[in-house]
Amino acid sequence: AAKAERRGSCKGFEARLDEAVQEKNKLEKDFRQAILGGQLEVHYQPIVNLDTGAVECYEALARWRHPQRGYIAPDIFVPLAEEMGLIDQVGRFVLQSACREATSWPEEVKLSVNVSPLQFRNGNLLSTVINALSATGLRAERLELEITEAVLMEKGPRPAAIIRNLRAFGIGISLDDFGTGYSSLSYLLSYPFTKIKIDKSFVLSLQNDTNSRAVIRAVIGLGRSLGLTVAAEGIEREMERDYLRSEGCAQGQGYLFGRAMPAHLLAEPGNSLAGKRRSAA
Ligand code: C2E
Ligand code: MG
Ligand code: MG
Ligand code: MG
Repeated sequence: AAKAERRGSCKGFEARLDEAVQEKNKLEKDFRQAILGGQLEVHYQPIVNLDTGAVECYEALARWRHPQRGYIAPDIFVPLAEEMGLIDQVGRFVLQSACREATSWPEEVKLSVNVSPLQFRNGNLLSTVINALSATGLRAERLELEITEAVLMEKGPRPAAIIRNLRAFGIGISLDDFGTGYSSLSYLLSYPFTKIKIDKSFVLSLQNDTNSRAVIRAVIGLGRSLGLTVAAEGIEREMERDYLRSEGCAQGQGYLFGRAMPAHLLAEPGNSLAGKRRSAA
């Protein structure tokens, strides 16, 4: 009986596997449709100066508005786009949309855009970025690209050369999710970063984990002594903001200050750009 049962559950497993494969196929089909049908959107989350509370930057965060399933998070569809060979197309869309949007913000407010490690592979990233800037008229100094350590693990001299070229144009380079990868000190010294973003997992565990405090304090000290802007993500509580500020962290991002929202809501009363938007050119 035990044997039969095992076979039974095995069959159940295969059925479930089959279902998962079909589900994935459907998602891929839907995603192709999403790109063609304009279902991708870019939302914006404020990054504030922790001393003054002023918005200094907005991070562009991609969203997929699925016609039946509602918003699908980038943690789902960015890996999908990478697998399907569509990440360059998605990246171009996000850059173009976000750069265009940012031209209507006050000149001192910057834009940051996430870049997938795969966008470094085919060598088009530099021209994609330069095209987006020239098509929209956004000054290069107002753009920051967020990369993760995975980019730096790519073999060969390519990422280093691309990053140096981007910097030469005046574009900022942020090391995102800092502390979650290998966080090798040599990375920090070998690439011309302008900002470190402390990963939200450290901020989340600030309250009850003295190790997180130690890591945060060390990273802030390290970043500052290298002349980099230090930002922290995932700030949800005043206590977290206060601690980070007191340790000298320059910028903060998190639900305490605002969630990512569609561009047209940034200028709504009570939101960060209220009364400050420049008329579109
Ligand atoms: P990320 O770049 O580290 O972005 C921060 C993520 O933390 C965002 O999730 C944001 O909504 C979320 N977050 C912000 N404040 C808080 C908070 O106070 N608490 C919590 N729990 N979460 C907070 P989101 O928008 O789901 O994006 C997830 C990841 O997807 C991003 O992580 C980024 O790696 C990737 N991503 C988003 N847009 C793009 C894109 O256009 N291109 C690429 N390649 N990746 C993208
Ligand atoms: Mg980011
Ligand atoms: Mg991050
Ligand atoms: Mg992340």
